[in-house]
Amino acid sequence: MFLIKHFAHPRVVTGLLGTLLVLTPVACRSPRNSLAEWMPSPNFNARRPQLVVIHHTAGASFEYSLKQLKTHNDGGPVSAHYLIGRNGRIAQLVSDDDRAWHAGTGTWGAYRDINSISIGIELDNNGAEPFSSPQIDALLILLEDLTSRFRIPRTQVVGHADVEPVFKADPSGFFPWKRLAEHGFGLWPDENLQEAPAGFDPFQALVLMGYSLKDKGATLRAFRLHYRGDRGTVLDEMDLRILFNLQGKIYRNASAGDPLSSVQKGKNEPH
Ligand SMILES: [Zn+2]
Repeated sequence: MFLIKHFAHPRVVTGLLGTLLVLTPVACRSPRNSLAEWMPSPNFNARRPQLVVIHHTAGASFEYSLKQLKTHNDGGPVSAHYLIGRNGRIAQLVSDDDRAWHAGTGTWGAYRDINSISIGIELDNNGAEPFSSPQIDALLILLEDLTSRFRIPRTQVVGHADVEPVFKADPSGFFPWKRLAEHGFGLWPDENLQEAPAGFDPFQALVLMGYSLKDKGATLRAFRLHYRGDRGTVLDEMDLRILFNLQGKIYRNASAGDPLSSVQKGKNEPH
């Protein structure tokens, strides 16, 4: 409407439409493979993300972080799909269908290219302060939307430090993982934890959860940050109880036929 109104002359409009027609094939999202004949099928939709990665910006303000996520800043270009302000304002910077640059070298379970299979959410927080209630309320609404719309298993909500334990420590120990778990997001241990049996292997449990053991010290720091809010590198009795409990939850989810997921599958969903 805006363009037509301002280029009302018929010849200009014709020229504009012609330009749009020429541009349309170029704007096609899916590049075709020159090795094959294009014989299109209408039976497809966009690929779905499988994981949500939560970050804190470590910035001073929403506006500062927005600029960092939209420009070629000092440390190289970075982005995320969403940025949530302290007041609960949600900005979307990258389409859900596209690959944002928020967890470049991370791994989680068998996933080796986290950016290709995840949605990245940045929280405006300097890393040394609690997260505000409006911000977490907004995050919970966004997680409900993303996990429902893309059928991402609700347990598959992790922190940046979980997927990049060597280099990252966000979100900080202030992040309310327990509150997220009360809404079904992420993995969280039960209140009453039984003692881990003799022979229990905590590292096997960490791998089962998705952690990499490439640098065990870094992985223990990430685990402690997530589940204890500190950066300890030695597993104590409580850690063993937590890991044994979480391992049991994963096995129970798997035997229920929906590995790592508490999402209900929709009826008549395309394959
Ligand atoms: Zn991060």
